[in-house]
Amino acid sequence: MDAGLAYDGSTRSDYASTKPQADAAWIKSVEEGSPAWEAGLEPGMRVDSVNGHALLDIIDWRWEASDDVAELEVFVPEGIGEESGAFLCTLEREAGQDWGVEFTDVLFDGIRTCVNACQFCFMRMLPDDARASLMLRDDDYRLSFMQGNFVTLTNVSDEDLQRIIDCRLEPMNVSIHAVSPDVRRGLIGRHAQRGIDVLEALCDAGLEVHGQIVLCAGINDGDELTRTLDWVEARPNITSLAIVPMGYTKYSRQFSHSFSEDVEASREVVRIIEPYQRRARETLGITRFQLSDEFYVDAELPVPAAETYDGYPQFYDGIGMLRSFLDEAADLCAAEGDRLVALARCLQTESAAAGASGPAVLCVCGEAALDVFDAYFAMWAQVCERGGAEPCAEARAIRNDYYGGDVNVTGLIVSCDLLAQLPEDLTGRVVVLPEVMFNFDKMTLDGDTQEHILSELASRGARCVVCTPSPRSIADALEGRDEECCE
Ligand code: SF4
Repeated sequence: MDAGLAYDGSTRSDYASTKPQADAAWIKSVEEGSPAWEAGLEPGMRVDSVNGHALLDIIDWRWEASDDVAELEVFVPEGIGEESGAFLCTLEREAGQDWGVEFTDVLFDGIRTCVNACQFCFMRMLPDDARASLMLRDDDYRLSFMQGNFVTLTNVSDEDLQRIIDCRLEPMNVSIHAVSPDVRRGLIGRHAQRGIDVLEALCDAGLEVHGQIVLCAGINDGDELTRTLDWVEARPNITSLAIVPMGYTKYSRQFSHSFSEDVEASREVVRIIEPYQRRARETLGITRFQLSDEFYVDAELPVPAAETYDGYPQFYDGIGMLRSFLDEAADLCAAEGDRLVALARCLQTESAAAGASGPAVLCVCGEAALDVFDAYFAMWAQVCERGGAEPCAEARAIRNDYYGGDVNVTGLIVSCDLLAQLPEDLTGRVVVLPEVMFNFDKMTLDGDTQEHILSELASRGARCVVCTPSPRSIADALEGRDEECCE
């Protein structure tokens, strides 16, 4: 078999959801006319083995069923199909054809949880009434490969390690944090060394790794940060390293400050990393060592140019989101000015007719993103001014009282803060809600539903759109909110 498994993310699971985890390879759907359908497979059946091999997860399925013939052992529960019990079947397909079967989950044996006791663990800083699913401390190398989750590798067995290497499950996303044994042990717990040993083995085997450091002031910054950067610099398989500041909530018993309150400490981190970035650019042509957006905001420095981000390999770790947002806003305003003017005119007309005053659109974000949202709407307002239209949108940052501390990102906005801080009178206004504040079940972190929030805001006179919080998605969503508008 070829080295490397392509994973397209189509069967992504949601571990913050309220759904129970799968305990086996249960079939969720079968495409009509597909090889799986021809062989008699149906939703609700369970695949116990392929070519004699039991399946742990979707990686096994793809690996074992990679040829054009597969022998399956299938279990049929009562009520599914004509006869219950176990049966054998043979699947055959044309070269390149999909089997046409989808499973209820990507992991068939449950999720692996972590064996660590990280000082900075966000789970230790949650309120008592936090949803149980938020307390799930996953640390599963398979989700690192399939979904980009960061893992510590401290719970990886020798057998797992061999599997990662044999199947070339890369890139692996690994939390490194620190390399000195005593600092690692103090920061992560007694299994810390195992993580570094496994990471060394992955590097020796030539697998690509994306690394991450959660930086805790006074623990793994300063000289320890330099040691960790040196260690990473000497291992070219680690193609990107993200450094993010520790965040804390008001429920933390250990932390009450971080880089967010310390401009000088944030600037020091920027100074420490710059020589590593310079050397990587000179020798490899990439920046490789990346600071999260928060460091530049906390240091009161401009975010770097797009080229610095090497194609944004750690975008979802908060690396380059602000730069990407600003560049997208500038591109949109430059390239689609007429469209934005027409949209603004339409929104303002509707809003004024409904009895609102001021900008028609109120766009919700976290406090950390307020400056870039303001910048976007200022650019849009300039375009409107040139086109003879009124500015139509303003940003509204929601302060995170629920978590407190220095939590200020858009993805952690909760319902109780949102509803308490938005105006009681929203007559005629369009409220744009960021979809990242909801999980796949459309629930917020404090357990409210999207449906309830939309109905509450409707009772205040607002119409709502929910979209990705990016300039183009916001414009698209506003345009699509009403079929007759802006035609
Ligand atoms: S690895 Fe550390 S931070 Fe992550 S869940 Fe476990 S204890 Fe928490």
